[in-house]
Amino acid sequence: MKPTGDSISRVISGDPEDTIDRSKRDFLRAAIALLAGLNLPRTSLAGGGQHGAGGSGQRVVMVVFGGVRRAETFSPQGLVNIPHLSGDLLPQSLFYRDARNEGVTAHFNAISSILTGNWQRVDDWGKLAPTTPTLFEQFRKGLGAAQSDTWVVASNKALTNLIGASSATDYGPMYGANVVFPKQLMVAAVANALRAGRSRNMADREKIEAELQSMLEAGNYEGLGWSVFDAAERLDPRVRATIEEAITSFVRSGGPTSGDELTFLVSREVMRKFSPRLLVVIFSDVEVAHFGSYAMHVGGIRTGDRLSYQMWQEIQANSEYKGKTTMVVMPEFGRDPDGSTTNGFFNHRGDTESTRGTWMMALGAAVDKPQIIERPIRHVDLCATLGDLLGCPPMDTQGTRLKELRG
Ligand SMILES: [Zn+2]
Repeated sequence: MKPTGDSISRVISGDPEDTIDRSKRDFLRAAIALLAGLNLPRTSLAGGGQHGAGGSGQRVVMVVFGGVRRAETFSPQGLVNIPHLSGDLLPQSLFYRDARNEGVTAHFNAISSILTGNWQRVDDWGKLAPTTPTLFEQFRKGLGAAQSDTWVVASNKALTNLIGASSATDYGPMYGANVVFPKQLMVAAVANALRAGRSRNMADREKIEAELQSMLEAGNYEGLGWSVFDAAERLDPRVRATIEEAITSFVRSGGPTSGDELTFLVSREVMRKFSPRLLVVIFSDVEVAHFGSYAMHVGGIRTGDRLSYQMWQEIQANSEYKGKTTMVVMPEFGRDPDGSTTNGFFNHRGDTESTRGTWMMALGAAVDKPQIIERPIRHVDLCATLGDLLGCPPMDTQGTRLKELRG
């Protein structure tokens, strides 16, 4: 879908980042006033979560950020956008230079394919679950891992909670992951507070309502808003309380304002409170590209680069993770080439090298020695590989286990 006239005019009317930052700042300021009046319940879960006994003792953290082209990342002219990935992490990583998405280059299908090891062709907007078991289900069913061991924390609005489990016979939600959309929960928390009339005065309420409205509209890329409000209702109350705490401190800090910052902070909180053995974090600030601002898209890449590095630093600082965790970082796909009929970097629909060719980085426990692998790999290769690291029984997938990662 092409960006609306509004979003285009916002982008070309000069200094769009400043406009949007100011609006976010205003929103946060108003939300602070509102949330400060709430008494959010404290979680009753302290320390680590409950873990099943099975498995290898290894942990996996997967960081996925939306569509980014090689041109803006691992190319001579792109390195400037990814100083942490290229400068801090690449030298200690196993780097697959050519990781290919050979499936549907839309968000839900791309993530589903990565998580199941089979190219999924379900609804682009997450109305249908993947048809073959996810890594979460294989891990939980095969090894008796608890739900608190498997998490998805996502900024991406094209996902729904159906990303956490498949529709496959003998699997499904009873073996699925916790799925959390932090920005959605923040919006829901503020909306609930508004309904409950807790804001201090009408001026605040009007301000917040206006900002909420614009926030929801601004997030409506590709014609999809938050259609997953029900997902929050299905969360375990203890889990929900933990997330709300993280969101409250995010809002109170008044500093970070991007959806991916919030996703990172919630992911970190989940690691500290539940220490899941399998955590999937999905960033999507880069998807602002659908609105047509190249500068903001590149800003999203820089944010993803920094947050990936901060995630790695958290793994090193957290005794539950240090020394026994493999972290992988990969885009879902590239984006269309400049000059394409689909508006170039705006979209990711072309059957082109620019859209299908990406990269993948692995760090940590499963990496014997840093090296760059030239051989092309496919996104579906990852599921069986990570499953093996976690100690899962062999999986029946379209992918091939990546032999360079040590089990
Ligand atoms: Zn997109």
